[in-house]
Amino acid sequence: MSTTLDFDIRLNERPLPAADREAVLADPGWGLHFTDHMVTIRYTEGEGWHDARLEPYAPIPMDPASQVFHYAQELFEGLKAYRRPDGSIVTFRPYMNAARMNRSAQRMAMPEIPEQLFVDALEVLVRQDRDWVPTRDGYSLYLRPFMFATTRALGVNQPAKEYLFVVIASPSGNYYSKGVRPVTVWLSQDYTRAAPGGTGEAKFGGNYAASFAGQAEAVEQGCDQVVWLDAIEHRWVEEVGSMNLMFVYGSGADARLLTPALTGTLLPGITRDSMLKLAPDLGIPVEEGKISIEEWQAGCESGELTEVFGCGTAAIISPVGAVKGADRAWTIGDGGTGEVSMRLREELIGIQYGHRPDPYGWVHEII
Ligand SMILES: *Cc1c(COP(=O)(O)O)cnc(C)c1O
Repeated sequence: MSTTLDFDIRLNERPLPAADREAVLADPGWGLHFTDHMVTIRYTEGEGWHDARLEPYAPIPMDPASQVFHYAQELFEGLKAYRRPDGSIVTFRPYMNAARMNRSAQRMAMPEIPEQLFVDALEVLVRQDRDWVPTRDGYSLYLRPFMFATTRALGVNQPAKEYLFVVIASPSGNYYSKGVRPVTVWLSQDYTRAAPGGTGEAKFGGNYAASFAGQAEAVEQGCDQVVWLDAIEHRWVEEVGSMNLMFVYGSGADARLLTPALTGTLLPGITRDSMLKLAPDLGIPVEEGKISIEEWQAGCESGELTEVFGCGTAAIISPVGAVKGADRAWTIGDGGTGEVSMRLREELIGIQYGHRPDPYGWVHEII
């Protein structure tokens, strides 16, 4: 299988007029608007990946018997394109997304895509729709690669033989348009996101479908997000919403970080991985381990545990201010946004947007 393909370029003859595009970019919200083009690449068993195209963004005609509608073979990724002060456009660690999609694909019995083809697909789309990359600080073009089963068959005992890989792009505003605001989280005892041997470490759409009831429960309880606990004892903390969690102990020069280890039920976040590399270089030691809800509460009550934050591509860092469960509730620190959280956030954003040097080689220039 060749590592990449030539893209057939089919330009949109009716792109959104520039004035309308600028109006969208002034206030894009999140995940609501899409650029003029998309990339599609087909996969057929025996033939491999073929028919790579850049084409106008449009609905995808699908047979009602396509396997994805029935047995949910679908994966996705998410990353951003950033415009830097010098006008260049970059993405952040895109080969990590490619590798993760392939690990997800193995779990869902779907085909792997050559990493270079994955990155080429992002580049082809961003180059064509470069005017959609916002210039405002904190804004970005969110890239959504995804893949699903298109085989027309209801047989349940085997994975599909045909797939479509697609990349779409959506301009996005600053996640915290009114400043970083700590969230309140709900400890879900009734719902489980992921169990050992399940699909929790794959970026699989079904994980999200399975999480909405828990998220709805959190909202009913007056919380913003749900904290997912382990499936067996319901006490080990795994993730929050669709973010990885970081716990800060101590403060100032004594601050250190703890994050739940990747046990197989957590999604291996690229933001998480970046924090684990960035923090030690800022003098903040990190540990991958485990933390129970009892330890979380006791740590906050004794003052030893000073900050908690979720991390992921969309929000980067989302401070957690308070925790609520069926039989307990507590505040983290003073319930506000912690210093260590903000420092890590600034550092990472600085690297992504080109305000700080990138000693890690994380930034991938597109234009
Ligand atoms: C995507 C995702 C994350 C964050 O991953 P990033 O690569 O940092 O964006 C965390 N948890 C879940 C469940 C996710 O789907």
